[in-house]
Amino acid sequence: MPVELKTDKNNLPIKITVDLAGRQAVAQIWEVKVGRSSLYLLDTNIQENAPDIRNITAALYGGDSETRIQQEILLGIGGIRALRALGINPAACHMNEGHSAFLGLERIREIMQEKHFNFDEAHEALWPTNIFTTHTPVPAGNERFEIGLMDKYFRSWPQVLGLAWKDFLSLGRERPYDDSETFCMTVLALKLAAYANGVARLHGDVSRKMWKNLWPGLPLDEIPISHVTNGVHPRTWVSSNMGDLLMRYFGTHFEDTPTDLSVWNRMDRISDEELWRTHERRRERLVVFARERIRQNLKRNGAVERRLAHAEDALSPYILTIAFARRFATYKRGNLLLRDPERLIRLLKDPDHPIQLIFAGKAHPHDMPGKELIRSIVHFAEEHDVQSRLIFLENYDMAMAHYLTSGADLWLNTPRRPLEASGTSGMKAAMNGVLNCSVLDGWWDEAYEPEVGWAIGQGEEYQDTNLQDEVESKALYDLLEREIIPLFYQRGRDGLPREWIRLMKSCMRTIGQSMSSHRMLMDYCNKFYFPALKNYRRIVKDDYAESKALAAYLTRLRQAWDQIRILKIESNSKPVMLRGDSLTVTARIELGPLKPEEVMVELYHGSVSNQANEIQDARHTEMKAVGQEGNVFIYQIRIECTSTGMQGHTVRILPKHEALVHPYRSGFIKWA
Ligand SMILES: *Cc1c(COP(=O)(O)O)cnc(C)c1O
Repeated sequence: MPVELKTDKNNLPIKITVDLAGRQAVAQIWEVKVGRSSLYLLDTNIQENAPDIRNITAALYGGDSETRIQQEILLGIGGIRALRALGINPAACHMNEGHSAFLGLERIREIMQEKHFNFDEAHEALWPTNIFTTHTPVPAGNERFEIGLMDKYFRSWPQVLGLAWKDFLSLGRERPYDDSETFCMTVLALKLAAYANGVARLHGDVSRKMWKNLWPGLPLDEIPISHVTNGVHPRTWVSSNMGDLLMRYFGTHFEDTPTDLSVWNRMDRISDEELWRTHERRRERLVVFARERIRQNLKRNGAVERRLAHAEDALSPYILTIAFARRFATYKRGNLLLRDPERLIRLLKDPDHPIQLIFAGKAHPHDMPGKELIRSIVHFAEEHDVQSRLIFLENYDMAMAHYLTSGADLWLNTPRRPLEASGTSGMKAAMNGVLNCSVLDGWWDEAYEPEVGWAIGQGEEYQDTNLQDEVESKALYDLLEREIIPLFYQRGRDGLPREWIRLMKSCMRTIGQSMSSHRMLMDYCNKFYFPALKNYRRIVKDDYAESKALAAYLTRLRQAWDQIRILKIESNSKPVMLRGDSLTVTARIELGPLKPEEVMVELYHGSVSNQANEIQDARHTEMKAVGQEGNVFIYQIRIECTSTGMQGHTVRILPKHEALVHPYRSGFIKWA
C-alpha cells in the first residue's frame, strides 16, 4: 500500500503515547499522500502494547463504547501529539464531527503547561482557532459517554486543567450542572470552537434547532452554527468517458484550474448527440458490470450453471435505469418504491416504456431493520418474478459507485426529511448527467430547481411516518408515470431524447459548479480557515496579550452580569407611524462595575404578528451611550421607519470585546 511509516533520524519509528485509565497506549504513525496533502494514520498494533490496546485501531466500528472512548482519546489527544512529534504545529484545527473533539482539551492542556495560563486564558487563546463541523441531525448519531467512563478515563484531567470535576463535565453538557446528563462530544466541540457549521443549508437550520439549548435566550437564527454544503471532487467522480468529452469542450483549464468553476458554463457547446452517446456508453458499462457481479454472487452462493445463465438476462442496456445506492439506514427508505407492488410492476413490465431498478448498499452490522430492508428488496424481485428488471448489488463500494453514478439515468433519493444531513452520491450522479429525483432534504433542498431534476413533495415534514410514506410514494409514482418516463422515451427521429438531454446539460452546468468540492473547500477557507489563521496571528502577538485580556474581561463580565439592569425603555413611537418617520429609542441601564463600552446594547426590532407576541425577521442595531445619570447609563438610537405593518422593538445586551470572534457566548444575553 502507498503508505509510509514515519521515522526519526535514526530510522526508528516515531511514536506517541496516550494514557488510557492508567495504562500507556503507544502508537506509530503512517503517512498517506493524498494529492498534495498528507493523511496521517495512528496505529496501536505494535509490540509495546497489550493485546486489547493493539486492537484499538483494528476496526472503526466494533467493540463497545469503551473501545470508542479509547479510539477517540487516541484520535484527539494522540492526534495532536502525533502532529507535534512530526514537527507540525497547527495554527488552526478543524474537528470534523465530534469524534475528534478531545483534541480541543489537549490543545488547552498543552498551552496551559507551556505558557502557565489558567484554563480561561487557554480557552480564549484557542477558541478562535478551532472549527467544528457537525454531520448528523440524528440525535443518536451524536456521541455521548456515560459519566462512569469519563471518570475512568479523564479523572486526572480536571486537576491538570485546574477545574473542579463538575466544571470539567460541564464542557460536555447541554445543561452544564445536570448530573443526569452524559458527556456529549458534539457539545464539547461546540464549546471549544468559535466556528461551527452543518453540511447543507437545511442541516444548518436543523443544527441550530438541535443545539439551541447551549445558548439560552438567543434567537434561533443567531445560534452561531452556520453551514458549508458538502461537495464532491469532479475529477474523481466524473467518469472517464464523460471526462474525456468534457475535457474536449472545457479545455485543459478544467484540469489545471479546478477552482475556476465557470468552465461548466461551456456545457451548452457540447452536441446533444455526443453527450447522449457518451451517456449510453456508461449505461452499457453499468449493465455489463452488474451482470458480472450478479454472476459472481450466484457462483459464490453455489448456484448451478443454469441459474448462472440468468445473470446474462439481468438488465437491459437500453431502458430507463433508476439507481438507489446508499447505506441501508431505515430513514433513507430504500423500499419506498416497493410500497405499491402492482404499480411498480406495471412500470417494470411496461412493453413500450419499461424501467429497471438497481439497488446497492450495505446495512450497519448491528442495524437489523436495515438488513431487513435489503432482504425485502431481494425477496420482492423473486416473489414477483422481476429479477431481470430489479436487482440488488452486494458490496457497495467506491468502484461500484463509479459505475452507478455514471451509468444510471435517474438517481433516486428518499430520506425522511430532515434526517439526511447532506448526501453526496446525488452530486456525483449530477456531474455525470444522471438526473436526480429526490425528497427535498440535505443538499437537494438547496440545489433543486425544475431545470436540474425532480423533487418528491415540497419539503413537508410529517409526524405520522406511515402517512408520509403513503403520500411520498404516491408522489414518486406520479412523477415517474407522468413526467420522468415519458420524458425519457420522448425521442426525435434521430432517436435522441432532446428534452432529457437539455436537462442533463443544465444539471451538469449548475451542479458541476455549485456542488464541486473546490467550491466547498473555498467556502471552508473563506468562512473559517482564513479567519482562524488571522485570529491565530493576532492572538500570539505580545505573548497572547489579547486572549489574556479577553479572559480577564469575561471573568469580570461573569461576576458583573447579574448586576446589569435594563431599567427603562422610552421611545417617541406613536400608534401609527408613517414610512420615513424616525423612531428614537432611549434605554436606561445599570451596569454595576462595567464601563459602557464594555457591553453591546442593541435595539432589536422587526414585525410583530397578531398571534404571537414575538418579533420576527428581526434586525439588531447597536445603541450608543449618550449620557450618564449617577450610576445609570443612557443609550440611544434613531432608526428610520421603513417597514409596513405592526412593528415591535426591545433592547438587549451582549458582551463586547474586540477579541471576541462573535458575541454569542453561552449565558451572556440579557433582554429588557
Ligand atoms: C458517495 C458514497 C457514499 C455516500 O453517499 P450518500 O449519498 O451521502 O449516502 C457512500 N458510499 C459510497 C461507496 C459512496 O461512493
